[in-house]
Amino acid sequence: MIKIENVRKSFGELEVLKGINLDVEQGEVLSIIGGSGSGKSTLLYCINAIENIQGGKIFVDGIDVHNKATNKDQLRQKLGMVFQQWNSFPHLTVLENVALAPQIVKKMSKEEAIEIAQKELKHVGLGDKFDMYPTKMSGGQQQRLAIARALAMRPDYMLFDEVTSALDPELVGEVLDTLRILREEGMTMICVTHEIAFAREVSDQVAFFHKGVIEEMGPPEQVISNPQKETTQAFLSKVL
Ligand code: ATP
Ligand code: MG
Repeated sequence: MIKIENVRKSFGELEVLKGINLDVEQGEVLSIIGGSGSGKSTLLYCINAIENIQGGKIFVDGIDVHNKATNKDQLRQKLGMVFQQWNSFPHLTVLENVALAPQIVKKMSKEEAIEIAQKELKHVGLGDKFDMYPTKMSGGQQQRLAIARALAMRPDYMLFDEVTSALDPELVGEVLDTLRILREEGMTMICVTHEIAFAREVSDQVAFFHKGVIEEMGPPEQVISNPQKETTQAFLSKVL
């Protein structure tokens, strides 16, 4: 479980997260929606300790993320993260890209890492692309490669930061389908997304971020289909 308690985060004078509280249970999908600059990406970076926090606590399976004694590398192995733009290693094949981190970080044998890489590439629908170079792939394929690469580390949680927003519209569906598969398999996920219809379909909870606070949170039938707050209504009327 991921537990976020009263988290505060500032960049200098700018307070970006102003007391965020969230729980994500095992097997749950939380979608985070909200305007640009509302702190969505920052929260993901705080969860995997890329960014520090100024107040509150974050626990991942009971591990206090920002405690000095916490082994950050061990923590990050629990958390797979996929970004809007993902840079693969252009000089490595698709298969080599996915098999690399398990060998380096998890000290797996090459054979074992390749086996896992093949499995995860099939998982995201790239079973016929092992020997391709990533630069030759479409944006949707590159994003699925990024997801396979994260899955090959066998994370307990997946954090997605607007993984479809850089894609041409016709490529969005194939990436969302991959997320749907993960959800069906019970992967616990936090998805920062502008795909409101997708969030409504797959989420157990939706959190609407506004200027560093969670303005409204609840099941999608509430937050998306029947928002209670004016700020949520105003945001949705712009993006829907
Ligand atoms: P978007 O939808 O545009 O991705 P977001 O909700 O993800 O927005 P964040 O990226 O979390 O927003 O940024 C929140 C605020 O923090 C913004 O005002 C941003 O400019 C600021 N910010 C983010 N990272 C840094 C940084 N490293 N240094 C200074 N300010 C930052
Ligand atoms: Mg962002």
